[in-house]
Amino acid sequence: MTSFLQNSNFFEGNNPENIAKDFGTPVYVYNEKILRDRMSKVAKVITKYPYTANYSVKANTNIHILKLALEEGLNCDAMSVGEITLLLKAGFPVERIFFVPNNVSSDELQFALEKGVMTSLDSLSQLELFGKTCDSMNIQPENRKCAVRINPGVGAGHHEKVVTGGKKTKFGIAEYDIPQIFLIAAKYNIRIAGINQHIGSLFMDPQPYLDAVKNLLRIAHDFKDLDFIDFGGGYGIPYHKLDDEKDFPMEDFKARLEPILDEFVKSYGKAPLFKSEPGRFCVAEASVILGRVHATKENSGIQFAGTDVGMNVLVRPSMYDSHHDIEILRNGNVVPRESDKLIEQTVTGNICESGDILAKNRPLPKINEGDLICVLDTGAYGWSMCSTYNSRPRPAEVLICADGSVKQIRRKETIEDLLNLFD
Ligand SMILES: *Cc1c(COP(=O)(O)O)cnc(C)c1O
Repeated sequence: MTSFLQNSNFFEGNNPENIAKDFGTPVYVYNEKILRDRMSKVAKVITKYPYTANYSVKANTNIHILKLALEEGLNCDAMSVGEITLLLKAGFPVERIFFVPNNVSSDELQFALEKGVMTSLDSLSQLELFGKTCDSMNIQPENRKCAVRINPGVGAGHHEKVVTGGKKTKFGIAEYDIPQIFLIAAKYNIRIAGINQHIGSLFMDPQPYLDAVKNLLRIAHDFKDLDFIDFGGGYGIPYHKLDDEKDFPMEDFKARLEPILDEFVKSYGKAPLFKSEPGRFCVAEASVILGRVHATKENSGIQFAGTDVGMNVLVRPSMYDSHHDIEILRNGNVVPRESDKLIEQTVTGNICESGDILAKNRPLPKINEGDLICVLDTGAYGWSMCSTYNSRPRPAEVLICADGSVKQIRRKETIEDLLNLFD
């Protein structure tokens, strides 16, 4: 049976036990080659027309990874002042940053306006607030432009919590409110330069996204002279790769997208800049978490392996019921998954919550105390959703560089760091 770690040569010849020794566990380990490969793939989703892929940085805001995105030619989406600040620090010029917030204050809008970052407004009231903020800052007419986020009325995604388009979600402006957009824009002398949408996260079938593209392009005809149209992110990755789940069919997707754009460009009379907003696809598969097994036990017939990868380190399984493949390492080597030797085991963390479970009744090679577990596909919504719950400092992140060297890209938080927040 497959081993992703072996097939991808993930550790590039480094012994994972040495990484565990040098940086402690749990630790996020990234592979630079995989990062660059996925980033370069999304940079070329549309080649026939002007296009930029905006890496949605909330998936992973490590500044070293942002620098790789810059080198790979990606633009970026930021959700907050913090993310804009990180991007500026990573070296992104303002024109390569797109601010896509929701429910922000006038101060936050003012920050984006001062920096000159293009902003998308997510509701009529936020558009009104943007107008008022422009007035209060005396923004010149030529700089009064923004985008609006449309709620296309359709959504898709792997879990109710990540479906972001659709009539009942909190995002975007409904189509029937478009006339109001123009009234508010006229009142504050704002030009609507772009429209964007994001229907949800993690789909493996391109069809719902293609339908949403068509739908947004239909809506785009209501807006004259758009500079850009942004179709959103959500491209999936195979979280069940050990069971041979296939990659997102990028080539097929591109081939089906192009004729839709052709038709639009003909009827609209020009090709605006097209954008997409991939987050997960860029980074998810480029990281694993190494954790140590500290205990094993049996409770009422259930075999438990107790590790240091708690829900504070990776929240996706407890928050979304997400599946992450797990490989077991013993003395630095992958324990083969021989189908007749797999035993159902429940892999848990060290947090005092019964929901602190990484994998439930998962057929795995028998796990021993002292083994390392390697949790796959943790580069997206992994570290960026870490917490210090149970007063556990957040883990280090290391990068296995293209030349095989191992570089720390974020130090482990310390208990001292936690104490420093108190006066
Ligand atoms: C989170 C988010 C994305 C990225 O979604 P992925 O599933 O990680 O590709 C894109 N656009 C917006 C507006 C988002 O909120």
